This record gives sequence, structure tokens and C-alpha cells, in this order.
Amino acid sequence: MPDPSRAGSASHMNLQSIIPENEKATPLAPPAISARGLKKTYAGSKKMAPKEALKGIDLDIPQGSIFGLLGPNGAGKSTFINILAGLVTKSSGSVSVWGFDIDRNPRQARAAIGVVPQEISMDVFFTPKEALEIQAGLYGVPKSERQTDEILAALGLADKANAYVRQLSGGMKRRLLVAKAMVHRPPILILDEPTAGVDIELRKQLWEHVLKLHKAGVTVVLTTHYLEEAEELCDRIAIIHNGEVVACEPTEKLVASLDNKTLVVTPLEPLAAAPDLAPYTAELKSDGRLFIPYHPSKAQVGDILERLGAASIKVRDLTTVESDLEDVFLELTYRSGR
Ligand code: ADP
Ligand code: MG
Repeated sequence: MPDPSRAGSASHMNLQSIIPENEKATPLAPPAISARGLKKTYAGSKKMAPKEALKGIDLDIPQGSIFGLLGPNGAGKSTFINILAGLVTKSSGSVSVWGFDIDRNPRQARAAIGVVPQEISMDVFFTPKEALEIQAGLYGVPKSERQTDEILAALGLADKANAYVRQLSGGMKRRLLVAKAMVHRPPILILDEPTAGVDIELRKQLWEHVLKLHKAGVTVVLTTHYLEEAEELCDRIAIIHNGEVVACEPTEKLVASLDNKTLVVTPLEPLAAAPDLAPYTAELKSDGRLFIPYHPSKAQVGDILERLGAASIKVRDLTTVESDLEDVFLELTYRSGR
């Protein structure tokens, strides 16, 4: 599908061949993943009512992006990913992966993605090298085309190639899962909540390796319920809430559109009541701090500080708080009238 002559994004020497040259992402190319009217209702049982997990998803994930699918637990993220991976059957709508319709060309569609599932299960009795060879076999990758060593190296596991998986640290196991997802050299790597419950150091390591793959031309999709993580890594974010996409924008635009911050001031002297800082509204909390919401696009912190000064309030300490995910959902769902 993409024009090979324009596939120039592979800047990482040792990674250049992780995915075939003609499958590298190209700007302005058709979307890597495209969904239209995608619905999924899980059948109910005696004890459970049917669950409408996806209510008509329209989504385009551009080639070459690091795309964040952001939403709270139960939003439908894994359902979406599992439909792409062929693990869950959609109820209606259409999806194509790398140009292949999942109904008409299921094998090609599946071959175009590598999925790191949310639920980790791993056979601990193999070595990383064996695990990758077995996976490659499952995908029918001929021996002559396997890149086991390159992939292990790309994920920082070269020196553990022959160790037992059970001897690997948690972070290494996660990276091995990414390596397994890459054995058939898919142009799209999908990670479902890869860092839920993973400490900051391991997250950083994992992202380092995923970013290397991205630089080598791999389109990356990750689901997360951490706004900060999506904000930091993704160039585009879709927010999914109750089975619907409520926003899909370049990260900067999305974050800017939220345009809500709160200045938190600890006064030097305790205050009896919230001061009048019009046009700002200050709220005095029981711990003595003042919370002053503002719109960064329209207001400067300095301006608020001047008003505090004019009200003779001396500041011991101050911080600003960004909107968190809850605010984002509230605002977006409110805006869209749901
Ligand atoms: P997320 O990954 O965003 O947390 P999921 O896609 O896992 O969300 O779940 C979406 C909704 O579908 C949730 O309400 C969940 O309980 C429900 N669900 C997920 N899998 C099943 C299933 N196999 N059977 C019935 N309901 C399910
Ligand atoms: Mg999930």
C-alpha cells in the first residue's frame, strides 16, 4: 500500500530491517487502521445483561503515528484492540488494518499487526530466543526470514537470549512480549495497557525500546488510562468513553483545548475567608490553601499573583494543577451533551 520510495523514516541503523522497507509508514498515506460504525455487544447470560461495549466507533489511526487510545476502565479499549487482533468478533461496522478489511482479508489484516495483550501469559520454560522462534513458527515466518537476534537486540534482550524466561525481570518480560509481537515484522505494533502496574523506571525502559521501533518506521498504538502517559508519548490521542470516541485530536491540540488549570496557593498567614480576586474565583480549602481555577489561554499566573498582592496576601508556596483525566471526561462528555 505505501509508496516504498517514500519510506524514509528508518533512522535506526540496526533496526532498519525490523519491518520490510515497503511496509514502513509514509506520511499522507492511507490510515494504518480505520474503523467505521464499529459496534460490539457482548451477549448476556442468565446472570448478566448484554453489554454494548462499542457503540459505533469511527476512527482513523494514521500511519507512522504513536497513537493513544485513552479511556477509563471499561471504556471499550481492549474490545477495540481484540477486534483488530481477531480475538473478539464485532457485531457490526467495518474495520481495515493496513488497507485490509478484517472480514474480507482476515489473514492479511492480522499479519499487519503485532499485539501485546493486556493479560500477560507467558511460557516461562523457554528462553527468549526459543520463545521468539516458536512465535515465528506460529506465524509461518520461514527460517531464512526470521530476525530473532535483531529483534532481541532491539528490545535490549540480546544478552538474555539464552536465559530462562523465569529468570528475567518484570521489565524484561514485558519487552519480550513486545519482541514476540514483532516476530512477523508487522508494520503496526499495538500495546494494550502496557504499563498498568509497572513502576516508573520500567515504563521508561519499555518506552525507550518502543520509541526505537517507532523510529524504524513502526506505527504504534497504545491504550492507557493515564492521561500523562498518552500526553507524553503520543502524537495523537483518541478518547474513548462508554464505547464512544468523544475526542480525537493531535495531542497538543487536545491538551490545549482542555484549557483548565488550577493555581494552588498556600498563604503565609492563615486566611479567614477566600479573598475577592475578580475576575478569578478563589476557593479556600479547609487545609488553608487557596484554589484558583483559570484558563491558561486567557490568563497569566502573574496576573493572579498581582491580584493576590493587591489583596495583601503573601504567598508561602504555589503550584499549578492540570486537568486530570476525570476533568477531561467530564468536560468532553458535557460538551458533547452526553
Ligand atoms: P477497557 O479495556 O477500556 O477497560 P473493555 O473493552 O475491556 O474496556 O470492556 C468494555 C466493556 O465490555 C466493559 O463494561 C466490560 O465489562 C465489558 N466486557 C468486556 N469483555 C467482556 C466479555 N467477554 N463479556 C461480557 N462483557 C465484557
Ligand atoms: Mg482493557
